Amino acid sequence: MEPTKFEKQYFGTNGIRGVIGVDMTPRLALEIAEAFGTMLGPKKTIGLGRDTRTSGPALVAAVRAGFLSCGCNVIDFDIVPTPCLQYLVLDHCLDGGIMITASHNPPEYNGIKIIEADGTEMGDERTIQLEQTMIHQKFVTTSWNNIGSVSFEPDARELYINAIVGQFSKNCGSGTTIVVDPGNGPAAATTPEILRRLGATVHVINETFDGAFPGRPPEPTAEGLASLSAKIVETNAAFGVAHDGDADRAIFVDEQGTFIDGNATFGLIASHFCRDHPGSVVVTPISTSCVVETIAARYGCTTSYTSVGSIYTARAMRNLMEAGQSVILGGEGNGGIIYPAHLFCRDGGMSAATMLNLITEKNKPLSALIAELPAFTMYQEKCKTKRTAEIIVCMKEYFEGCPTDSRDGIRITRNDAWALIRPSGTEPFIRIYTESKNSVEAKQLMDEILEKISMYLE
Ligand code: MG
Repeated sequence: MEPTKFEKQYFGTNGIRGVIGVDMTPRLALEIAEAFGTMLGPKKTIGLGRDTRTSGPALVAAVRAGFLSCGCNVIDFDIVPTPCLQYLVLDHCLDGGIMITASHNPPEYNGIKIIEADGTEMGDERTIQLEQTMIHQKFVTTSWNNIGSVSFEPDARELYINAIVGQFSKNCGSGTTIVVDPGNGPAAATTPEILRRLGATVHVINETFDGAFPGRPPEPTAEGLASLSAKIVETNAAFGVAHDGDADRAIFVDEQGTFIDGNATFGLIASHFCRDHPGSVVVTPISTSCVVETIAARYGCTTSYTSVGSIYTARAMRNLMEAGQSVILGGEGNGGIIYPAHLFCRDGGMSAATMLNLITEKNKPLSALIAELPAFTMYQEKCKTKRTAEIIVCMKEYFEGCPTDSRDGIRITRNDAWALIRPSGTEPFIRIYTESKNSVEAKQLMDEILEKISMYLE
């Protein structure tokens, strides 16, 4: 049922990323567009979006050139959240899309996400095919009289805003005050407007498009969201919401200004959906906290696990639905949640609207709702090493006899705790997660793993 994971050369789990002028250049962007244009063939139409990074226009120009030379037409949506582009590809029945973004990476980075005609990110098999076209330079460009054309969609953001607002009942957020921190990214033009149209009173910080990210880094960490916390307290807001650089993720801060872990948010949102759809399925990667599974089970729902990466989750959701299952929600513990009734991709604007609807309906402080969730303690570590294959072998031997799952790194279950030891898809790192209801046990398991693999670390 789950899509198979393949090794890719250029592309990581969510597209290709690099430092501008070093490993991400307009030349590379041109070749990606030429390769995608070659795969699609002439006369096809591609949607193009970008985040607010300073290098965006240079990469947009290169990507446009690649498609036009292959005889493809381009609709340029300008600055939009990634889920907005994904929505428009689907809504406009386009043949594909390119999102120019480095998501949560620092300002010197940029990257490319390739979107298929169904609005999902390109899967591994097609990405490898695209890489082969690039490696062997097998681009098929067209003659002078078949060059593609460029058009623009001035209503791009408006269409996306309407699509989300249409998922909720009118004025469902009336009486609730929220602070939005789009972090100078594309959601500055979408999330505040979505929440206002749902009836909320909205304050915004870091609200201008700015690729220098003067307000905070594109990764919404507790430290980076200090200004958001202060504004929530100052305005007596019910909560705050912040996005990463392309707004496919949403991170929440409660009414007291306390940062909420993405796993807890996912658990709370899952409780909302599972309550209304008992017997359904929630889909999530094996790195997600058991809080989601525990809550789903409370409402008679099951949890289906996938490899780590939203494309695996999104595609598994679709496969399960095609097989006749009722899939109600998907997502990751990093604030990326997928709402299949809306789109098969993570959508930060949709998460913000969902939380508004939830908090207004429950009429309880967000901190209290989070405190009611089953308590799990998770530890996460990221260690530098190139010897990831040896680490996995070592862990397999060490945990022999414990139930294991080898679909992505190695996940082991021991007594009331679990651990995931997983090589990073893009960098020379190994990521380690441990979790248990018993915090001592989770800590012990982490310490034990770190000690055992210390000889392989740099
Ligand atoms: Mg992102």
